[in-house]
Amino acid sequence: MNPHLRSGIALVICAPSGTGKTTLTRRLIEEFPRFAFSVSCTTREPRPNEKNGEDYEFLSRQEFERRRDAGFFAEWAEVHGNYYGTPLEATRRLLAEGRDVLFDIDVQGASQLRRTIPGARLIYILPPSRAELERRLRSRGTESEESTLRRLSAAATELAQAHWFNLWIINDDLEEAWQELRAAYIAATLSPVRRPGFLNGLLKEWGDTA
Ligand code: 5GP
Repeated sequence: MNPHLRSGIALVICAPSGTGKTTLTRRLIEEFPRFAFSVSCTTREPRPNEKNGEDYEFLSRQEFERRRDAGFFAEWAEVHGNYYGTPLEATRRLLAEGRDVLFDIDVQGASQLRRTIPGARLIYILPPSRAELERRLRSRGTESEESTLRRLSAAATELAQAHWFNLWIINDDLEEAWQELRAAYIAATLSPVRRPGFLNGLLKEWGDTA
């Protein structure tokens, strides 16, 4: 992808499962409807409230592997025993159209996107403590005990990667975390790549009056 042609912002948000990431990213999309959400593909089972094509595109392992081998994904990873991946072409198209795109992906995927989309803003949401993360995972009530413990132990591995992200949001208080995420996005929109042609147009006004 030629970075000079791109004017959309790629906002990558990572967090261990249970950190409040889904709540925060949904709120971002609600407040800024111009956001495009990158709908990932996954091989995990849909949760009761999830819709195919909206939350994820749910695929069999065989179909996921077929697409992966055909170069369909911008990044992919195996997380908690299931495959997850970001479709490449759909992402490229959105960014090239100037749409801001939100990526809710794991750290392995984020490190791939850091290379495939060099201007991506990488935000990591951290839990305030291990105990609080465990409490939130259990109160969700959607996971089996085995899955909860697997997610809790995976969190340590994921958190160990947080150091190379651009920004950290420690989600102790949800409202505060939301204000921080909102501010981070607004700051990202002030990038000159969002205003292709503006400066030339402005300077031209001087040329016209000279
Ligand atoms: P969940 O199963 O709870 O929806 O997601 C589990 C983990 O997979 C989360 O950390 C989520 O960010 C990650 N994930 C979701 N979609 C993608 C994707 O397209 N690529 C990668 N690498 N991870 C993803």
